[in-house]
Amino acid sequence: MNLAPGDRLAPQPWMVAPETRAVLAALGAGGAELRFVGGCVRDAVLGRPIGDVDIATPEPPDLVMARLAEAGLKAIPTGIDHGTVTAVANGHPFEITTLRRDVETYGRHARIAFTDDWREDAARRDLTFNALSCTPAGVLFDYFGGLKDLAEGRVRFVGDARRRIAEDRLRLLRFFRFLAWYGRAGPDPEGLAAAIEAAPELHQLSGERIQAEMLKLLAAPDPVPVLELMAQGGVLGHALPADVRLERLAAIVAIERLAGLAPDPVCRLGALLAPDPEGAERVAERWRLSNADRDRLIAIAAPEPILRPDMPPHPQRLCLYRLGPLRWMDRVLVSWAEALAQSPAGEAGAWLDLLRLPERWRPPELPVKGRDLLRLGLKPGPEVGALMVELEAWWIDQDFAPDRQACLDWVAERVRPPRP
Ligand code: ATP
Ligand code: MG
Repeated sequence: MNLAPGDRLAPQPWMVAPETRAVLAALGAGGAELRFVGGCVRDAVLGRPIGDVDIATPEPPDLVMARLAEAGLKAIPTGIDHGTVTAVANGHPFEITTLRRDVETYGRHARIAFTDDWREDAARRDLTFNALSCTPAGVLFDYFGGLKDLAEGRVRFVGDARRRIAEDRLRLLRFFRFLAWYGRAGPDPEGLAAAIEAAPELHQLSGERIQAEMLKLLAAPDPVPVLELMAQGGVLGHALPADVRLERLAAIVAIERLAGLAPDPVCRLGALLAPDPEGAERVAERWRLSNADRDRLIAIAAPEPILRPDMPPHPQRLCLYRLGPLRWMDRVLVSWAEALAQSPAGEAGAWLDLLRLPERWRPPELPVKGRDLLRLGLKPGPEVGALMVELEAWWIDQDFAPDRQACLDWVAERVRPPRP
């Protein structure tokens, strides 16, 4: 790595992809100077996979809309008042922002002015390495020492940390998020002090914004040291209104590696929270989690079922049948994390077998439906439902073995009119 301002990034596949070229050609039709900005430049410098491609231009957003339309590209005015337009080319989104300076900032809202000054645009960005930009040919611009900070693993605000956080409190969570992903030098003392000081004001932020940053933090290869730092500084409680168990999160990170699983931020959150459905519900509400994520978190926090590697095969299958493969994996992972947190010497092989049960045994479906009972002559009504429940209990008791005919025979036996 060790790139310096003015150096050229090696050509990146995403820089020369046909869709990127199409967007650049459209935006450059009037001769405007264009650059890649933000996360894509930062990650390309490190040789890491990039997230989304952001492009900046000095031209105002209405002109950006017109240029995209002219080129036949889809243009969505995602944040047009703040100078942001999303272009879609070949199914890929590109965020196009007009160079701007923040005139006045209050929380998420800012009075802004468009500018043609690249340095001013860099100065309104949060962290030094997020203020990097590069030309379409890859020539790097670095106004605030971002390349050096990136190389040294230093997460630093552009300008005065206290002021930058006061302008937008989300930046204090972004500080920790980027520390988890890029920090290698220990936290910047000024940034950390400012973040701790402003943490009680996190309540002013919307749940969606907290969720987005915290889930990205939780997805870092190892989020534990940074969460520990947040807990020690009294920050974590302001972002996460529930009791936490960091040792369970540490355990699940180790388990994911052992099992070859990609980090899953919601499952990790479930491991981080103390097993308390009410706490899980509070977090889901505060972070405005989707219904699916909320239900998943609450299922992880529920006291039952307890899964253990010494469970006999039939109860294992019964639990998997009731939970479905995804909830099953969540519960095995978190139960394993709990066990590992309590005693580090564990029987990993047996836990792995338990985790992978869905690969060996797919929960079958009851091979008979209510309408099959009607065909046997039963009248629609609550008895049919009750009989289905009984049938299912019998079928489970037979270890899911009876096939359709055996189930129908069982029902026929039950409903046969008494012999005269
Ligand atoms: P990633 O997309 O990988 O999460 P990113 O750096 O692209 O990381 P985004 O949230 O997409 O992060 O923001 C794009 C850029 O916009 C950032 O790199 C930064 O320059 C700027 N930015 C985003 N949020 C803020 C903020 N709250 N304050 C100041 N600048 C910000
Ligand atoms: Mg981004």
